[in-house]
Amino acid sequence: MTKFEKLSYPTKGTKIEVKDGKPQIPNDPIIPFIEGDGIGPDIWRAAKMVMDGAIAKAYGGKKRIEWFEIYAGEKAAAKYDGRYMPQDTFDAITHFIVAIKGPLTTPVGGGFRSLNVTLRQELDLFACVRPVRYFKGVPSPVRQPEKLDVIIFRENTEDVYAGIEFRQGTEVCDKLIKHLNEDVMPGNKETAKKRIRLDSGIGIKPISITGSNNLQRKAIRWAIARDLPSLTLVHKGNIMKYTEGAFKDWGYEMFVREFRDNVITEDELWDQAKADDGVTPITKEGAFAHLRGGKPAGDRNGRVVIKDRIADSMFQQVLLRPDEYSVISTPNLNGDYLSDACAAQVGGLGMAPGANMGEFVGLFEATHGTAPKYAGKDMVNPGSLILSGVMMLEYLGWDEAAKLVTDGIQKTILQKRVTYDLHRQMEGAVKLKCSEYAAAIVENMG
Ligand code: NAP
Repeated sequence: MTKFEKLSYPTKGTKIEVKDGKPQIPNDPIIPFIEGDGIGPDIWRAAKMVMDGAIAKAYGGKKRIEWFEIYAGEKAAAKYDGRYMPQDTFDAITHFIVAIKGPLTTPVGGGFRSLNVTLRQELDLFACVRPVRYFKGVPSPVRQPEKLDVIIFRENTEDVYAGIEFRQGTEVCDKLIKHLNEDVMPGNKETAKKRIRLDSGIGIKPISITGSNNLQRKAIRWAIARDLPSLTLVHKGNIMKYTEGAFKDWGYEMFVREFRDNVITEDELWDQAKADDGVTPITKEGAFAHLRGGKPAGDRNGRVVIKDRIADSMFQQVLLRPDEYSVISTPNLNGDYLSDACAAQVGGLGMAPGANMGEFVGLFEATHGTAPKYAGKDMVNPGSLILSGVMMLEYLGWDEAAKLVTDGIQKTILQKRVTYDLHRQMEGAVKLKCSEYAAAIVENMG
């Protein structure tokens, strides 16, 4: 049993264990939660009410979650003598494997790393997972938002976000530029173009085989387990060949090496399509459209189709051909932009769920911030944390409860009973408080 500095080990519930490479989920798992700062307590109360309500309805008392409060942010600082991210919090998440959190304020002032980044790095949560789907009735900027239904696996630890940066004018930055200009790229005709201006700041973009494959493996396992049609590697490899381009190449190599029976590449599918009906299509998409009355065809053997798209083109694709995409796997920066763009497309930036995941550890979280001006007013939309709870229930394998929650949300939105953020965009809607909205979701389940 882990010993904590200031937490008392829970007396009820059972710890999730990993056996034979799989988490074993008891009927009463202990799940740590971090309430979060600002609007955190409001949305946490709402999310807990909805999750507990769904579990009770789905399993009639046979299953339940034993919630275990752990601390980060301002509440931690008060309990742990000014420490915003105590060791107890890392230890509890590692020990209990699955946890959920509200948003956290990064304290202003020198010396504080973002608490969220700290959690991801310390716990090696290498995948940021963001599903994007549409709820009927939510105001959206596009005409057919329901066509987008994707899950984005964004690498969480590498790329230009690794935090390896050198400020312009510092000794180390000057040294680095000199080394690169003089030793790594001495001035011949070809490399002269690559010379770094002496008044530059420098950021480093590491992308490794390990980091890429860890993420891609998680994504392909997700696709196979849920019988999804495709996985798209989104990269900017036409320009950044040895980082983004390599991400793509390492992905294809690993999928074929480790998952051969479950995957078919788009090129192989292309050949299969031609063999099937003898057409010589002008474009790949043209061929697939011909095969299935205008819809892109999947593999006839039900394997996951592996494709890749250049990042800028992908931003067009999710707008123009959203239903050709399912699972998306991409490096950190592309994923950051693409997740928000996709969430906005379904009108749900304020209710987009997310999870940060390691090999087994899953930390489910609201994707928005602490919205301090609404703190304690019981008025914001708890949708992001509730839907992160849905991801968590799915991770536990409690799909019946997860479905009750999504059904409840859908029904409540169709009844036009919503919080202020959706209310201001919907005609004839009734404005509910955060807690009233949660109660309406529970009432509408099943
Ligand atoms: P924010 O807290 O996300 O709020 C920005 C705006 O988004 C709000 O004013 C509100 O817009 C809308 N919004 C956010 N959450 C909402 C909800 N649940 N329901 C309805 N509307 C919602 O972003 P911020 O003001 O830039 O950041 C505030 C603090 O949060 C900062 O300390 C930042 O570091 C932190 N933060 C934490 C996380 C995290 O923990 N994951 C993520 C991002 C930011 P309207 O006013 O237009 O209604």
